[in-house]
Amino acid sequence: EIEVRALHKSFGDNEVLRGIDLEIGRGEVVCVIGPSGSGKSTLLRCVNLLEEPSKGQVFVGGTEVTDPDVDIDAVRRRIGMVFQQFNLFPHLSVTENLTLPQRRVLGRDKAEAARVAAENLARVGLSEKADAYPASLSGGQQQRVAIARALAMGPRVMLFDEPTSALDPELVGDVLAVMRGLAEDGMTMMVVTHEMTFAREVADRVVFMDGGVIVEDGSPGQVIGSPRHERTRHFLSRLL
Ligand code: ATP
Ligand code: MG
Repeated sequence: EIEVRALHKSFGDNEVLRGIDLEIGRGEVVCVIGPSGSGKSTLLRCVNLLEEPSKGQVFVGGTEVTDPDVDIDAVRRRIGMVFQQFNLFPHLSVTENLTLPQRRVLGRDKAEAARVAAENLARVGLSEKADAYPASLSGGQQQRVAIARALAMGPRVMLFDEPTSALDPELVGDVLAVMRGLAEDGMTMMVVTHEMTFAREVADRVVFMDGGVIVEDGSPGQVIGSPRHERTRHFLSRLL
């Protein structure tokens, strides 16, 4: 469902991605781990073209998104993205946060957008907050709204960039539970995270990045449980 081939990305002289090859099958959940500055966010951002790759190809759902003739907006519609910061519209209610992009980007009518919004709020366990404003919600609830907003667009794949890193520890579990539910429903997911328990229990594969390359790619049991490379061992030992 996602395929990355020989991907390079430089910012000026700084080569941040140095040849990434990665395949994620439909319904697969891949967690990306690695030290700060290793290029995890840049990799995710290249998948939905928030960054333009310097070299290499990216395919999502069989479409080459790095094709210069591709319709970027059409590509982005198929890719849901959730960031560390939730980026909800503060002046809109929860429901309006979910309906506005559906109406603007997908051209859905009001009733259909409202129906899809309600369905996805239920999915993240926040039906009772439909009329609330973001400021009145906890960080964990805001992040679940952000997930529901992405889901309401009907994406083929979901990208998560440290979705729980900005949350108080007691709020992390609810967000991870929603993500676990999505994984169980068969969503294709690429998740940058430091939550090793989540990676171990939910991921089909774990990818360890360091210095702009994939050092290790395998099952959670292998990469987290018995890493082959010294760099992976070093990284994991500092997390514990
Ligand atoms: P973290 O765990 O801290 O989020 P990361 O693995 O996500 O780190 P990236 O954010 O991908 O790392 O950054 C990798 C490198 O690319 C860093 O050296 C960073 O300074 C650089 N970089 C990222 N975005 C830009 C940008 N827009 N312009 C210039 N340099 C950038
Ligand atoms: Mg990052």
